[in-house]
Amino acid sequence: MRREALSNLGTRVQQWLLPLRCLLCGASGANGMDLCADCAAELPRNLSCCERCALPLAVPAALCGECQRRPPPWDAAWAPFRYAWPLDRLESRYKFGRDLAAGRVLSSLWQTESRAAVLPELILPVPLHRSRLRQRGYNQALELAKPLARAFDVPLEHDLLQRQRATPAQTELDAVTRRSNVRGAFVLRPGISLPVHVAILDDVMTTGATLAECTRVLKRAGVQRVDVWALARAPSPGRR
Ligand SMILES: [Zn+2]
Ligand SMILES: [Zn+2]
Repeated sequence: MRREALSNLGTRVQQWLLPLRCLLCGASGANGMDLCADCAAELPRNLSCCERCALPLAVPAALCGECQRRPPPWDAAWAPFRYAWPLDRLESRYKFGRDLAAGRVLSSLWQTESRAAVLPELILPVPLHRSRLRQRGYNQALELAKPLARAFDVPLEHDLLQRQRATPAQTELDAVTRRSNVRGAFVLRPGISLPVHVAILDDVMTTGATLAECTRVLKRAGVQRVDVWALARAPSPGRR
């Protein structure tokens, strides 16, 4: 039996044993997810956004003001959702509440969103410092990336890009402090060879400071095209 058929069978057995339940409202799940069709339809899609940094825009425009003045170091951004209700509820349960079922729902949702035609040759999730990894127990970006990499048939490396310095959480910082906070925080494992086109993946993108710093590291190592992928884009705090 092919692996895919086996895994479909596995999914059916699991669903029979454990029926799908919407994590947001408790109704029956739909489309193989622990999320009902109504809640899935309410998730805020990031349809009108900056082409370069995926910043949500009220009116369609190719580039946001910031990207016109000072373009980010990456080549393209893909963030299919906006970080807003009710997606933020699933994300915070996943990231801070150890709710891995919420993470599975988020990754499944991400897979079904439309994406650029050209896929990268490698996906690198933003790494956590080992102290944070110990605290949380899992890297939320890596766990979102695994099913996505399988679905797109793109290799995934979890320890090629490494965080060599523990940095304070970006959440409480403004845009300028965020940039200096992550400067020099990432390194590449020595002696590796990288493909021409790489995607860096994170769960939520806010100012993009972390993704920009990772991009610089990859470009310095000779990567020609870097895409940044985030599940959701938050409006940037004080980004000027
Ligand atoms: Zn629901
Ligand atoms: Zn932009």
